[in-house]
Amino acid sequence: MQEQEQEFAENLDDKFSEELIQAKEDQMLFNEIMQSGLLYSRAGRDALGVRLQPQRRESSKVRRNEKCPCNSGLKYKKCCGLN
Ligand SMILES: [Zn+2]
Repeated sequence: MQEQEQEFAENLDDKFSEELIQAKEDQMLFNEIMQSGLLYSRAGRDALGVRLQPQRRESSKVRRNEKCPCNSGLKYKKCCGLN
């Protein structure tokens, strides 16, 4: 029982740090878009719109920083995860 609780806590830690990293990346992307003026282009608005949507839990099976399952060799967030 003790071990399970510890494992649970560790998983929770992983999850938190992953979300912290993600939040930081989002902030960086936002700054990038603002600075580049991309915000006024369609691509910029789309990128921002996608990022500002609440995360959908059913798509969280694929981690955004891992390789895309379509074998493009890109990270999921740079590939199918864009939409
Ligand atoms: Zn893909």
